[in-house]
Amino acid sequence: MRQFVRFKTEHPDCLLLFRMGDFYELFGPDAQLAHDALGITLTERTKGMPMAGVPHHSIESYLRRLVEQGHRVAVCDQVQDPKDAKGVVDRAVTRVLTPGTLVDEALLEDGDENVIAAVAPFTRGQTTVIGVAVAELSTGAFTVQQCDPLDLPDVLARVAPAELLTPEEEHDDDPIVPDTLAEQVGSALTRRPGWSFRLEDAEELLRSHYGVATLEGFGLAEQDPVLPAAGALLRYLLETQSPQEDVKSGRLAHFRPPVRLHSEAYMALDIATLRSLEIERTSHRGELAGSLRSVFSHCRTSMGRRLIRHWLCRPLLDLAAIESRQRGVRALVEDREGAEELRQATGQVQDVARIGGRVAVGRCTPRDLVALGLSVEAAVGLRAILAQCPALTTVHDALAASLDELAPLAALIRDQCVDSPPAHLREGGVIRDGVDEELDEARSLQRDANAWLAEYQASIVEETGIGALKVGFNKVFGYYIEVSKANDSRIPPTFIRKQTLKNAERYITPELKTFEDKVLNAEAIAIEREKALFAELCIRVTRSLEPLSRFAHTVGEIDCLSCFAETAHRLGWTQPTLEDSNVLAITEGRHPVLDASMREGFVANDCVLAGPDGPTLALITGPNMAGKSTYIRQVALIVMLAQAGSYVPAREARIGITDRIFTRIGASDELHAGRSTFMVEMTETANILHHATDRSLVILDEIGRGTSTLDGLSLAWAIAETLLGCRARTLFATHYHELTSISERSEGVCNLHVAVREWQGQIVFLHRIKPGRTDRSYGIHVAEIAGVPPETIRRAQQLLQTLEVREGESVPPADTAPPPAQMSLFTEYLPHPVVDELRAIELDALAPLEAFDRLRALIEQAKGDS
Ligand code: ADP
Ligand code: MG
Repeated sequence: MRQFVRFKTEHPDCLLLFRMGDFYELFGPDAQLAHDALGITLTERTKGMPMAGVPHHSIESYLRRLVEQGHRVAVCDQVQDPKDAKGVVDRAVTRVLTPGTLVDEALLEDGDENVIAAVAPFTRGQTTVIGVAVAELSTGAFTVQQCDPLDLPDVLARVAPAELLTPEEEHDDDPIVPDTLAEQVGSALTRRPGWSFRLEDAEELLRSHYGVATLEGFGLAEQDPVLPAAGALLRYLLETQSPQEDVKSGRLAHFRPPVRLHSEAYMALDIATLRSLEIERTSHRGELAGSLRSVFSHCRTSMGRRLIRHWLCRPLLDLAAIESRQRGVRALVEDREGAEELRQATGQVQDVARIGGRVAVGRCTPRDLVALGLSVEAAVGLRAILAQCPALTTVHDALAASLDELAPLAALIRDQCVDSPPAHLREGGVIRDGVDEELDEARSLQRDANAWLAEYQASIVEETGIGALKVGFNKVFGYYIEVSKANDSRIPPTFIRKQTLKNAERYITPELKTFEDKVLNAEAIAIEREKALFAELCIRVTRSLEPLSRFAHTVGEIDCLSCFAETAHRLGWTQPTLEDSNVLAITEGRHPVLDASMREGFVANDCVLAGPDGPTLALITGPNMAGKSTYIRQVALIVMLAQAGSYVPAREARIGITDRIFTRIGASDELHAGRSTFMVEMTETANILHHATDRSLVILDEIGRGTSTLDGLSLAWAIAETLLGCRARTLFATHYHELTSISERSEGVCNLHVAVREWQGQIVFLHRIKPGRTDRSYGIHVAEIAGVPPETIRRAQQLLQTLEVREGESVPPADTAPPPAQMSLFTEYLPHPVVDELRAIELDALAPLEAFDRLRALIEQAKGDS
């Protein structure tokens, strides 16, 4: 218990799993918690000390469940052979598991990333930026970036970290509120001591970890704002992986130097857009099925499955980079046979990124090592296929370079390890015969043992004349000679009694004892040798981690390209034309997800915006359920896919490179975050109005719904006008059909509506987008279809007629001119004599007291008038 208390004190925020014999035990409040979380039996160790345990061989599945539920877990192992222990066996905490630091295969979802992020504000002079560091421990990926405090939630949402590190101390003027942030992005929050974010310490740790004198080679300046976050993150990972060691001990060799992400390289997608376009999961249920990612489910490798998420969440801005991906995809779309061969070959490559990670943190299994060797050898076929395809030269060359470096390692693994090794090294059987002389000798001793025993048994049968005598072995007592009680009298004096059974006695002889020592010793030697040889192989892999990680990345890229091609072929997509302009011209576009699930039934629609003389703003009206939301989302998704390098669901598409896609869709209910729906809607709208440029695409769905009709309509109207002013390409779906009259007085607006047909008093949705406006919202029709009783419907129709008359009066009169895009204090909208007087004042000609008097007079006048 003293040991337990010591470790528990060192890891107060963790559940401590304490190895005792064949079990990992939890004590005290931990036991109660584990009982609740895992449903394991609660007992008492001593009176009043709750205890609960899990069998050691199934610890991984319990760990997984605990971490999934957001717990931190410290695993305390026996680090000494109980045979050598004097008193209590030595123990040590060997692993600390947290939601963002998982590496074991059993703990990870194979196509998903398990990402951890650290953020820290950095102030220089008047400006504060946020340094963000993001890593995946299992693969060694490590990126840094800096951002404006306001953009932080969006940056983190794209990364979706499982765990977020922030400094422990909070100040009132901090630009981030960790709890809110963690909740917004759905990650577990871990507070770290302020000193671990100190710039000097961070820099020092990074330099020593990568063995460099300066970090400038990594693109990190002295005093770089990302350093505190990067250093704190690395320190935390080192601590969790080797809790007993000094953090400088050189673990995590697979960790690549931090790569700086430049936000200028990627299309900015904010949280609201990622969610409402349902790129990763559906916004309603949060499921993968029904999301954009689910359409791209044909990756063959774990590297590809993880990378495609990045490609979808981070579309490119550079035309050349997009076209390079497009060329790869086209080559594979056009050569079906080659593409299929490529997919087969890619599928042979295991999750080598994570295997590299496990080697680096010292948790690599024999199967990992063999899988690594086989993957490298399988990739030789992949390389040959790529060599046939000129459009894939870049990936071919990258793959070839890494393969050349890895080939000797793969050969070594093949030569030394058996083809299908056991899951653990514990009982040996991993290294082939013929690799190591000492191992072979020890093994042959074990093998020869049976022959020797048979001979020995025969010889003592002859010597004693006891025909039923047997030589055997058991784990507890070792080798023995078993003789039935009836033969007691014939036992020679050289037999020493060892164990008494019901009908027999077991003996040992000095000869047998010597043999036993030799055999058991041989077994121990064999296992020791295997462990040493395995460790040597692991060290060999550690030296090749850099090419290994390049290899893994290239395979991921190849996999993503062939997944794009596969999807394009399967769903009949086409290659879009991208250009450096603001045009948006889609012919027969379809919604990628709905089209994939409905196939024939989906109605394709065109979209033409901007270009030399097209409108930049389209107002889309139509009844509920007509397909407005689907239409505007589909346009956004097509643009996004095009810039990710993918083909798109359309007959033809010409797309000017889009810097950002903004969306405000639906009334997502964020009441739980303490903000009213309308407030959320306006916050998101404010963000759009501040940041949209003439290269942006803005998707607005039913803006202004959360307040009274007139408020909402006026806001929607003003927002539309502001967007017209900045010439952002805008699709605005609205049920305010009054809004359509904007087109009468502003340039650059077109009206679209979704066609419906009335048939025998019912409406039929055609889902077809047509020019022009609707003048009614069909709400009552929809209510009728939904089964609202006929009397209620009739009454509603009656009421509508009276209300429509009245509402007509209060709608903004049609002759109101739109205000200029930038409102100023002195417009004709604020006619007032005080304003005229103010204009007339020549400030420089006034003495201070005079100025004061004039001001007083003006104030009086303004008050009097109001
Ligand atoms: P609105 O926003 O106008 O209320 P939605 O876009 O939500 O309508 O569409 C309602 C439903 O109509 C969708 O769930 C889909 O099933 C169907 N739908 C929409 N657009 C199409 C289309 N182009 N082709 C076929 N079905 C469609
Ligand atoms: Mg809608």
